[in-house]
Amino acid sequence: MALSEFELIRRFFTYPARNAVLGVGDDAAIVRARRGAELVISTDMLVAGRHFARDADPERLGHKALAVNLSDMAAMGATPRWATLSVALPRVNAGWLRAFARGFMRLARRHGMDLVGGDTTRGPLNINVQIIGEAPAGRALRRDGARAGDEVWVSGTLGDAALALELARGRLEFTPRERRRLQKRLEAPTPRIALGVGLRGVARSAIDVSDGLVADLGHICERSKVAAVVQFDCIPASAAMKRHLDRPAGRVALLAGGDDYELVFTAGPARSGAIARLSRRLRLGLTRIGRIVRRQRGARLVTVLDAAGRPMTVKRGGYEHFN
Ligand code: ADP
Ligand code: MG
Repeated sequence: MALSEFELIRRFFTYPARNAVLGVGDDAAIVRARRGAELVISTDMLVAGRHFARDADPERLGHKALAVNLSDMAAMGATPRWATLSVALPRVNAGWLRAFARGFMRLARRHGMDLVGGDTTRGPLNINVQIIGEAPAGRALRRDGARAGDEVWVSGTLGDAALALELARGRLEFTPRERRRLQKRLEAPTPRIALGVGLRGVARSAIDVSDGLVADLGHICERSKVAAVVQFDCIPASAAMKRHLDRPAGRVALLAGGDDYELVFTAGPARSGAIARLSRRLRLGLTRIGRIVRRQRGARLVTVLDAAGRPMTVKRGGYEHFN
């Protein structure tokens, strides 16, 4: 490496730690949790060629590496506080590192977080972030709290990140403005931290949409031992998404597209007023899309009904039929 590893860490990954007793530079970091808080810990690895293209814009990549982890904090209703960053780099490229660190640190600062440590090594490009947040004891949002009778809600719009992938394959048509918006949703997602915090004591269960609505709502059902029924026509979609809902690829994007990082949550019907107020305060659409029901033996976890009330089947491979 042209730069020594020590010099590289000092130049690109060392920042004043406001929340930490001891940040980057020692054998380990030291942090102090707030009184009455539980620590919420999660990690996500991004591998070049699998989770992002090798030539991906480094600033957006830095943003996304942290954003996907922040999204897990949002889904838990946790306040993110500290992160560690481990990177394997095929070569040292100062321009690339500077842009990557800029994207990462801008998002970290926006959420008042500290980068408190990590590891740096030579190897195939690989980025691993660990994130530590806090939630008041016993108040974190979990996947296992949904109950029959709960309503199912989703934030923002779904399917846009998956449409951006379709766009790259050249299969669907979009205006230049839509292209930029969709690209941004895929490459620089907005983690719903304030929503997660606002849902403490309101939602009974929550998850972030990283694998697609049906799969992720399925995880809530699995852990909560319930099932869900979703109305296809209620699922919030952007204008670009709406124009493609008559195409199988569009419907698959809406129901099974990953990488949107919106939150799906369930709450008792009495909470709908509180949820509407939260939506106004955050200026973020929150849409009721269905209900949690008792799980019947052998029935599927998540049933999506079309406008006529018929169950829809969606296959990840991009084809779909009604049964
Ligand atoms: P050690 O040999 O004790 O593991 P390192 O030389 O790997 O120490 O790291 C020195 C310091 O730099 C440690 O505080 C470590 O957490 C930090 N660090 C290393 N790489 C990164 C990185 N990519 N981002 C943030 N901090 C890092
Ligand atoms: Mg080390």
